Amino acid sequence: MSQEWNLPRHATVCGTCGHEFEIGASFRVFLSLIDGAFRRDDVCDACAEPGHGGVVGWWRTRRKAPPEKRTHAFDREAIYAFFSRLDDEAQIDKRQFRFVLALLLWRKKVLKLVEATNAEAGEIWKYVAIHDGKSYAVVRPEMDEQQMESLSEQLESLLAGSDATDGEAAPVSETSRA
Ligand SMILES: [Zn+2]
Repeated sequence: MSQEWNLPRHATVCGTCGHEFEIGASFRVFLSLIDGAFRRDDVCDACAEPGHGGVVGWWRTRRKAPPEKRTHAFDREAIYAFFSRLDDEAQIDKRQFRFVLALLLWRKKVLKLVEATNAEAGEIWKYVAIHDGKSYAVVRPEMDEQQMESLSEQLESLLAGSDATDGEAAPVSETSRA
């Protein structure tokens, strides 16, 4: 299993040009799924989105002042806001991403799993968001338990300490916002 997502979790420089982000500066985080592994790229506004393909989503964040105490808090609100904007896409990598993200939010007690039903499209997992009661239907993509577990762990560590700002997170595909 390749574990090639060895970028720092709390980026201080642009992964493309090496420019250092000032405290408070805004930059973009691209999340890609490549050969079954998630990859995170932090990119300044002057640089183009990563050219390696496989981007499943992105959001905008800011470099925070270094915390007095080192924390790796999972930003429930921001990650949930990001999830809530993802549509169910036919594309397999985006489907895997949405499914794994939902699992993670379930584990973090942001979502509650209501039921899993079989539909024509496949297995549908129904979730309700605990704080606002919104419901989500997530199609379970073709993937085995091991793959799911591996993606879930990667995603969790990539999102630890992430501070996506509400309002600007968006799926990378424009067509998904019909
Ligand atoms: Zn750059």
